[in-house]
Amino acid sequence: MSDGQRNRLETLVRRAELRAGVSRPVVTPIQPSVVYASPSIQTLHAQYEGGAQGYTYAREGHPNAELLARKIDGLEAAEGGLVLGSGMAAVSATILGLLSAGDHILGGNQLYGRSLRLMHQDLARFGIATSVADPTDVVAMRAALRPETKMILVEAVSNPTLRVADMAGIVALAEEAGVILAVDNTFTTPVAYRPLAEGADIVIHSVTKLLAGHSDVTLGYVAAREAAQMRAIYDFAVTIGMTPAPQECWLAERGLYTFPLRFAQAQANAAALADWLADQPKVARVLYPGRADHPDHARAAALFGGNFGNMVSFELHDTNEAAADRLVQGAPDLPFAPTLGDVGTTLSHPASSSHRGLTPEGRAALGISDGFFRVSVGIEDLNLLKADFGAGLDNV
Ligand SMILES: *Cc1c(COP(=O)(O)O)cnc(C)c1O
Repeated sequence: MSDGQRNRLETLVRRAELRAGVSRPVVTPIQPSVVYASPSIQTLHAQYEGGAQGYTYAREGHPNAELLARKIDGLEAAEGGLVLGSGMAAVSATILGLLSAGDHILGGNQLYGRSLRLMHQDLARFGIATSVADPTDVVAMRAALRPETKMILVEAVSNPTLRVADMAGIVALAEEAGVILAVDNTFTTPVAYRPLAEGADIVIHSVTKLLAGHSDVTLGYVAAREAAQMRAIYDFAVTIGMTPAPQECWLAERGLYTFPLRFAQAQANAAALADWLADQPKVARVLYPGRADHPDHARAAALFGGNFGNMVSFELHDTNEAAADRLVQGAPDLPFAPTLGDVGTTLSHPASSSHRGLTPEGRAALGISDGFFRVSVGIEDLNLLKADFGAGLDNV
């Protein structure tokens, strides 16, 4: 072996650095490093004690998560928000970071399915009492409060019937009762509603959905108005290990560049598609908060500044599953997939997906028959969408 060869082999394990140039990359770099080297013990002390800025270990924070969090902070009038590995990580860190055994949490009765499961099945194991009430009815919410209630968790728009919570009433109720108000803002997005600016204490997102927008990352976000609450959520999330991957944060940041454009186009499509669906003879009813026939239209108009969102639900006259399946089969270009917020339109059937755990009577109480569909409207050309839905309905 020549000296030259031996040297190269021996130094391969040393991480190399490129020479610094006079130009810079235009695109955000991806930083996959899990560990960060500090120049001295003194510096490391200063990092831990807040006197010096620097990363130590990626579970505790890394540049791509921080860049993404600062961008969402800007949208949500937040400071110091945290990006986590999923929307459910954000929901879980909020509840488990702030509540203790003996506390009670009141949830909206139509929360996201896994949030409901957390309420109904998991929290009790940790001694946290839970109950749910209808967030469109602040009297019902007030009646469900207990002396030990510490938190209220709601979504401004419910899934899949798109009912609009009485947010002004709930903000006032939480304030009066001295209860932490956490709002999952995934459906509404900060374009339509900004919980912290409206008086809530905590805002949560499934970044997976509209913010990232391309169904290729799973991420969450949470921000609290009070620094002590944010610190408790952060410490719990870091301890439990809800760390987001740098590559996913990078993709989500890229998705955010077009978020306002995507949202505007998707919501314009949703409004037009809702009106078109309402005219189709096989459609019994359409639910879209922007339509005058929606039960919460006036409240939505007051809360959301004309941003009624990209979600539309509708029900067929024929409410048996076979008819619904013929619609799915007749529109093969509309992915039949239980998600939302993708650039492309997706179709979901709550009775067989998000709400399959309920009894048919339980679903009926929410107005969800086997002929009920939820549509996450994307940015396609509207005529393409009408053709797809037309073909699906023709097949029913
Ligand atoms: C999808 C969703 C979640 C969960 O987010 P994940 O990123 O899938 O964990 C929470 N809340 C709402 C309203 C959602 O739509």
